[in-house]
Amino acid sequence: AKDDKKELTENSNITFSDVAGLDEIKDEMNELCDFLVDPTKYMKIGAKIPKGVLFYGPPGTGKTLMAKALAGETKASFIYASGSEFVEKFVGIGASRIRSLFEKAKKSSPSIIFIDELDAIGISRSVDNNSERDQTLNQLLVELDGFNNYDNVIVIAATNRMDILDKALLRPGRFDRHVYVGNPSVKAREDILKVHFKNKPMNRDINLNSLAKKTHGMSGAHLANVINEAALLTVRKNLPQIGNDEINQALVKTVAGLKNKTTILN
Ligand code: ATP
Repeated sequence: AKDDKKELTENSNITFSDVAGLDEIKDEMNELCDFLVDPTKYMKIGAKIPKGVLFYGPPGTGKTLMAKALAGETKASFIYASGSEFVEKFVGIGASRIRSLFEKAKKSSPSIIFIDELDAIGISRSVDNNSERDQTLNQLLVELDGFNNYDNVIVIAATNRMDILDKALLRPGRFDRHVYVGNPSVKAREDILKVHFKNKPMNRDINLNSLAKKTHGMSGAHLANVINEAALLTVRKNLPQIGNDEINQALVKTVAGLKNKTTILN
């Protein structure tokens, strides 16, 4: 959903330590890590690792971050694409972009393809009939079926709208592992705050535990935003450290922004 994340290949320097609070998901990702690092172990036994993992859940909860961390942990190339980039006016263009995405991934393997907003391509054909999108979706299915497990490519996709996805995408051998990434618990919020305060000068009067309690309903992205707003205010006021006043002002601003959009905090 963000403009700064256009399709790109990069080497991620993000690791699991940058992702707070999603411990069970990290455990699940460990098997994928192992496979990317040492696929022959799996080949010898004839064990198939899932090709496609689908992260679903509300926005800003760390789905992209988790995929980047998997790339960082395994030194795999990270290839980012947003589903909305494949939705084109002219029939066939989206499909050819999907083809080149997979070609690129195979060339730079081990690699992780991350498709954000999968629903933009994968909306059920029964919900929305559109021949360009159908071709794009078909091409994605063809690529998922066609690439070999041992090409050492893993596809991770994310969506906020699992309910509207075409069921064909979810069949075995495609996105057959589904991982829910939800809004953080109070403990997870505290951990996320810690990660984002790391390397920032922080006044000792700030209590992360009580800040975590006050931020019920906020996602990781909201929390990162609160801290960044507070840091900006600190610079504006020419203070040496981020303090409680700056945090409280940033909170008011973020909560006001949320109330304008949704009723997430009630
Ligand atoms: P969308 O569905 O909108 O694409 P997303 O779930 O992919 O959202 P991310 O892009 O991973 O969300 O998160 C946005 C930012 O929020 C991250 O770059 C990070 O700064 C912060 N963030 C979100 N979740 C976490 C987390 N669990 N730990 C640390 N930071 C987090």
